[in-house]
Amino acid sequence: MTAAKVDTIVRGGRVVTATEVLDTSVAIRGGRIVALGHDEALPPADRTIDATGKIVLPGLIDCHVHLGPVYDDWSTGPVAAAHAGLTTLIAFAEYNDGETLPQATKRIADEASQASVLDFGFHFIVNNEPHILEGMPEAFEMGVTSFKIFMTYKKRPKRMCTDDFIAQVMEKLAALGGVCQLHCENGDILYHLENKAIAAGRVKPTDFPGTCPPWTEEEAINRAIRIGAMTGCPVYVVHLSTAGGLRRIKEAQAEGQRVWTETCPQYLLLTEKEMEKWGPLAKIGPPLRPADGGDGEALWAGSAGGHIATLASDHSPRRKASTGRGSPFPSGARRWRPWCRWPTARASCGGDCRSRGWRACWRRIPRASSVSTRARAPSAWAPTPISPSSIQSPSPPSR
Ligand SMILES: [Zn+2]
Repeated sequence: MTAAKVDTIVRGGRVVTATEVLDTSVAIRGGRIVALGHDEALPPADRTIDATGKIVLPGLIDCHVHLGPVYDDWSTGPVAAAHAGLTTLIAFAEYNDGETLPQATKRIADEASQASVLDFGFHFIVNNEPHILEGMPEAFEMGVTSFKIFMTYKKRPKRMCTDDFIAQVMEKLAALGGVCQLHCENGDILYHLENKAIAAGRVKPTDFPGTCPPWTEEEAINRAIRIGAMTGCPVYVVHLSTAGGLRRIKEAQAEGQRVWTETCPQYLLLTEKEMEKWGPLAKIGPPLRPADGGDGEALWAGSAGGHIATLASDHSPRRKASTGRGSPFPSGARRWRPWCRWPTARASCGGDCRSRGWRACWRRIPRASSVSTRARAPSAWAPTPISPSSIQSPSPPSR
């Protein structure tokens, strides 16, 4: 090969492309992969990276991340992600009270552009308030094409969406060509079981999973799929955790419906036994599932079979103080954060406690968010951007 010099050659590694895994070298010019091949077939390079004994992956994308005031921010989160080999984050974003979707899109995109060392996008979390949908077409134009709604968390104001509202969101998204993401659990049943558990004094961490039985995910997934079919809207089930839910998704996929799902490492690797060890720190929604329920095995098989399209982290860290103390209940209610002491007070409660002369306050912490745009914030942390589409010889990691 007599091609002009390239910037970098990564040699000696096992290269994972979109369709195969092979021992080869990678030539990069101008931030793009221009060739795969044996060393002697590649042009000279300014820099050679020896990857002997290593796996060479395209830049990874984590499409389920929570960044914002109560989590990692747009500076620390992407830096941590870059250390793990990620080059793009698609985070859940939330609008503030009184803000429209386009206003929120601009605000968050500005913040992320300034702070993020990685490429990023957003999904918006939409609360159960129809007026917010008015801004959806404009937000869509700005690059946000996926919107997430919750079928649970009844104790959080406006968080849990009615079937009527879900249908309205899906109708809008179907017309725009977008995707509806759903946190699928039957919120009314979880509310009922949680109240019963609290009334009976069953409020230990190990009592939590029992208030979110696996069938409530399957039921909600079925409902989401049916509403998706009715409205013609593509459905994306976030953080799938059960074999029953997967069964229903496979059925819909076999019928040709546009239904996708993701799972997370915690559902593949951990079980509800973690509640005994870690208490409230292991409380996640949906919960870790019973060790003997077959859910983990089903999710591994679903991933291997391609029915589960994505693995994502659902990264949503909070200070130990906000999750490590007290009871794991109520689930989905706003949490109280006992850690607001100024000077951090300003950041965590808007300065309320300070202005009132308090030394500390208990601050209500709202939760998650979602939107989608694109930007590039180059920096020292940003690895050479490599995306599956820029790999010339396509093929998937086999596992
Ligand atoms: Zn999440």
